[in-house]
Amino acid sequence: MQINPYHNALEQLEHVASLLRPLYTKREAAFEQALQRLRRPDHFYETTLEIAMDNGSIRRFTAYRVQHNNVRGPYKGGIRYHPGVTADEVRALATWMTWKCAVMDIPYGGGKGGVVVDPRTLSENELRRLSRAYGRFLADKIGPWVDVPAPDVNTNAQIMAWMMDAVQEEYDRTGRNVENPFALFTGKPVALGGSPGRDEATGLGGIDVLERWRKQFTNIERSGLPIAVQGFGNAGSWFARHAHQRGYKVVAVSDSQGGIYTPAGLDPFAVLDCKQQTGSVVNYQPGAVERISNEQLLELPVAIIAPAALENVITSSNAANIQARLILELANGPVTPKADMILFDRGITAIPDVLANAGGVTVSYFEWVQNIQAYRWTRKTVRKRLEALVNRAFDEMWHIHVDRSIHCRMAAYYSAVRRVIDAMLLRGGFED
Ligand code: NAD
Repeated sequence: MQINPYHNALEQLEHVASLLRPLYTKREAAFEQALQRLRRPDHFYETTLEIAMDNGSIRRFTAYRVQHNNVRGPYKGGIRYHPGVTADEVRALATWMTWKCAVMDIPYGGGKGGVVVDPRTLSENELRRLSRAYGRFLADKIGPWVDVPAPDVNTNAQIMAWMMDAVQEEYDRTGRNVENPFALFTGKPVALGGSPGRDEATGLGGIDVLERWRKQFTNIERSGLPIAVQGFGNAGSWFARHAHQRGYKVVAVSDSQGGIYTPAGLDPFAVLDCKQQTGSVVNYQPGAVERISNEQLLELPVAIIAPAALENVITSSNAANIQARLILELANGPVTPKADMILFDRGITAIPDVLANAGGVTVSYFEWVQNIQAYRWTRKTVRKRLEALVNRAFDEMWHIHVDRSIHCRMAAYYSAVRRVIDAMLLRGGFED
């Protein structure tokens, strides 16, 4: 049976609510009202985009934008192009964005967008038309102080540039004033207001988290520690390259077509070359490289697995077979709530998505700050500030994890959801 990620998100919210309730005994009614608001997104938008194909035909694509919560700042979250996108997946991803921005304590709420499409079936021109149409759909829903979208699975800096331009065109057409078009989207090309370091930020933030985790255990040497990475796109490939450069041993990687494994270790730079030239990592075959499935990759005898593709890959069906000591969630929602409990009971640490992949939204935040200031930072500044925010968030989560003996996701949610609820109560929209 298909696991619904939004059901997971709601189950996680109820779990953390049960931990937080005792803190709000003096404002019980207001707490319950705030919680009730968090159970549903503030806004849900759905449309059908009609695109002229190169052969003259018209194709229709379902598209969504979900705005979950904005009490701590503008809605923030990526746009996904994937044939498996559903309304509930986008709702779940938007909800997780609210928690992620609160974990990092950056001034945003949560949002997400998606289009039901396999972009590999489109030509460059069709992809541009689709992205510009989605930009027009967003035009009256977003803004630098309202909702700031970014890339996610199968979208990138070029697509953000097309969307930004389409929104600006729509504003011009309707006579609306756009104060600062560059601050409408993040993850843009550097030549159009993008931030140095945004491309690699998710992978790099994952490395910062990994290093911070390792420092909790002085006996764990980084050198040669085997890592398996599922998904070799933006998040996975940058993470693998940085891990390799720091002396970790990347022994397995995969993409939608399958995976490769060698205990001797891979060179992620060479694997990326191969993926760029042939379309998949599975074509990388020098030496004794074994072909494996995505399911096998997760159960390899490695120290660390980094799921960096899609949701629900570690479930109650395979959690008992995981051999790694650490799961670093570069993807959003790769571990289900049931699997969380199994892993916790087995002493396996899962660093949740809301922290492990928060490097992306954090540098998006830096990009937005730079756009508002009209002042570009250096990569070094971006890098230093990212590391500082990741370390702060990690230490906060780890302290709660150890102190309260709860798994890392609940520890991260404990402070994040509390921050969001406190902001709601401070605003005073609820009666006691
Ligand atoms: P991407 O499109 O760049 O790469 C996705 C990768 O996953 C590709 O290599 C693809 O082949 C692979 N893949 C797709 N389906 C797969 C499957 N069924 N099994 C194994 N591999 C599969 O996307 P991305 O931006 O790297 O995003 C990956 C994950 O990271 C998503 O969950 C996304 O939400 C999350 N994330 C990304 C960012 C970011 O800045 N890009 C930030 C935070 C979180």
